[in-house]
Amino acid sequence: MTVSRDIVILSNPALLEKVDRLRDLNIGQHVPLPQLVVVGDQSSGKSSLLESLSGIPFPKDQSLCTRHATQITSRRNSDDRVDIRINPGPHASEEHRKHVEAFHMHMSSGLEFREQFVDILKKLKKDQANERMGLRVDISTGNGAVFSEDVLKIEVQGPNEDYLTIIDVPGIFRTTTQGTTKDDMVMVKDLVKRYIRDDRTIILAVLPSNVDIATQEILELADDYDQSGERTLGVLTKPDLVLEPSAQAAVCDLVQGKKRPLALGYFLVRNRGAFSGSKEQSDLDQIFRKEPWVDLPRDRVGIPALKEQLRSLLVEITRREFPKLLQDVSNQIKECKRELNSLGPPRQDEREQRSFLSRIAETFQDRARAALAADYNADPVFGQDELRLITNVVNITNVFSDDFQQGAHSRNFENINLSVSSVAVAIPDDYDCEETPVVLMIDNLRALLQKARVDDVAPGELAELGDIIAPLPPHRTPVPRDDFAAWINDVYLQSRGLDLGTFNANLVSMAFAEQSRKWGDMTKIYMSRVIVTIHRFIAAALRSVCPEEQARRQLWSAILESLLERYKMAMAQASLLIEVEQRKQPYTLNRRFAEELSKARGYRVTELLRPKARKDGRQYGELQFMVNLDDIAKAAEGKSNVEQLQEEIHDILHAYYYLALDRFIDNVFQLAVDYCLLHGPSSPMKVFTQDWVINLESEQLELIVGETKSAKKRRSKLVKKIEDLSNALKILKT
Ligand code: GDP
Ligand code: MG
Repeated sequence: MTVSRDIVILSNPALLEKVDRLRDLNIGQHVPLPQLVVVGDQSSGKSSLLESLSGIPFPKDQSLCTRHATQITSRRNSDDRVDIRINPGPHASEEHRKHVEAFHMHMSSGLEFREQFVDILKKLKKDQANERMGLRVDISTGNGAVFSEDVLKIEVQGPNEDYLTIIDVPGIFRTTTQGTTKDDMVMVKDLVKRYIRDDRTIILAVLPSNVDIATQEILELADDYDQSGERTLGVLTKPDLVLEPSAQAAVCDLVQGKKRPLALGYFLVRNRGAFSGSKEQSDLDQIFRKEPWVDLPRDRVGIPALKEQLRSLLVEITRREFPKLLQDVSNQIKECKRELNSLGPPRQDEREQRSFLSRIAETFQDRARAALAADYNADPVFGQDELRLITNVVNITNVFSDDFQQGAHSRNFENINLSVSSVAVAIPDDYDCEETPVVLMIDNLRALLQKARVDDVAPGELAELGDIIAPLPPHRTPVPRDDFAAWINDVYLQSRGLDLGTFNANLVSMAFAEQSRKWGDMTKIYMSRVIVTIHRFIAAALRSVCPEEQARRQLWSAILESLLERYKMAMAQASLLIEVEQRKQPYTLNRRFAEELSKARGYRVTELLRPKARKDGRQYGELQFMVNLDDIAKAAEGKSNVEQLQEEIHDILHAYYYLALDRFIDNVFQLAVDYCLLHGPSSPMKVFTQDWVINLESEQLELIVGETKSAKKRRSKLVKKIEDLSNALKILKT
């Protein structure tokens, strides 16, 4: 019966050979290839069928019933050889995988292999393969698993072999016997499902003829996954054991498509039974020449007919699935390349590592430059709020400046209006309109700061910055008090000496120190907000330039100390500015001071004269007032010396305070924030630079960007997979 085999080989070699060469490249583990899977209940005759089809004598004794999937690949080749390996199952641990993959058995002749196969398998079960698969050697003892997800792979090649790949899976069972458990039942069923799910698998549903077909679960299962039935073939075994005429008629009905029809129909085959001895297949097939089987169509009975059908089915499925296979392979190549890309360039030696890190540093500096210049169009990453550095800092600074103007003084100054001519002019109705935009903007900025959670310092950030920054969120800064006059009176009375209408120069110093008491705390809070913002910027920028977490974490800890040092320097600079303002004798060269002071004095005189002034009509639309010269001389008579001194102190302090405040805010921004934290040569933005990378010790470099073992492994795996798949693509396209 070698005729059909030859027909098969002649009719389809190119396509099947292609697929077979793919299998040879191990492509099967990446993309499913067309294959045959033998499924059915336990003892339905699966292993026997496999033997009939492949000539490989599978053991049929009960204790050796299949407890794992076995894939047999046979192939025509001038070399004669057999290789036995184990493929780990999908849930295998790394350790088990290694253990299993180390197994390899080789024989130099297919004939020798067939003769020894049962012994080999028995031996394997005792020591190597089964033990490797973690299976129990003796099924009745409790150690090890009864079933394994690993696949025993047997590759047979030789000048007389067919192209055929068949997979034998454990039989489905519904009652737990012989130490099998419910879990085993589920696992076996899952295993079967995994094989029959794929569109490229031809399902050989094995059904013993001597058992009622209604009890065979496999047909339903196949139906679930192959609804159109275009890849499920029924194979009825053990016709020699069906003796009752009615049972024989039922089998004939199935084969003739009269009962529970299948799209691909049923085949009737006879395998070697327990008592068949060494009979040839052709001898066994004599049964089909007898009643009642003799009436069945010849292309539906016997192993050769089945084999031929399988061949053409396999070709058909392969042809149909070929475009999809091609697509799958190219998609996987793309996917692998993408993953390889995400691993970055290889970094085995120092030169590769330094250039890798140097490129990251360069990109980081580009981002930092753009962020400081508000050049957010430079890169889409700037959509991220944390990366909009200069905007965040300016917003925080605006709020700081406003807070400072509104309430950094301990006591409210007297409400003196320094523009004399406007004294009599009512506040215009549209006053609000002028102020509103500014007020609104500041309120918006405050809302922005809240949204950005600048004051919500995360525990991780606090662990790093805790020693440097002030506690955020801050306690509310106390609002200025309204007892200025009483306070200055106290200060004066407690510090005066033998003075004649003058006061001690220290008095202004003391009063200013008290009036600016909150500056220190408010400034530290401002500085802290800026530092948190910069710290977050650096972290986010690093995330954007170095997506690989392991390397980023190492890099972070390598630069953290320098960053903290620079934050500290900025804080110290701010403290120095506070100290200078508060400790030194108030002084200024600013000419505005004299102007403001004389305006204040003018105001005082005007206020004294106001009750004595008479209206004198209008000139150029403005009200004119007349005052007696005598009145001017007597104007201040009503005031005591002390009162006049207090007014003088108030006015000096007032003029000086706002001058100092403007100067201070400017200085804090210029010297502490801008110079120390943003643009200066030792700002934290200048820590992670290409220069820094160039000067790194090689050990440190290795620590930061040296690839982890797993990344190295992953990379070489991907490279190999891409190579395999590219070869596969070449084969498919020729
Ligand atoms: P599996 O559990 O599905 O792999 O079933 P096996 O192939 O191990 O077969 C179970 C038993 O049925 C074995 O003793 C086989 O010899 C026997 N058997 C299988 N097919 C036939 C057949 O066509 N005729 C006879 N008489 N026995 C068969
Ligand atoms: Mg079996």
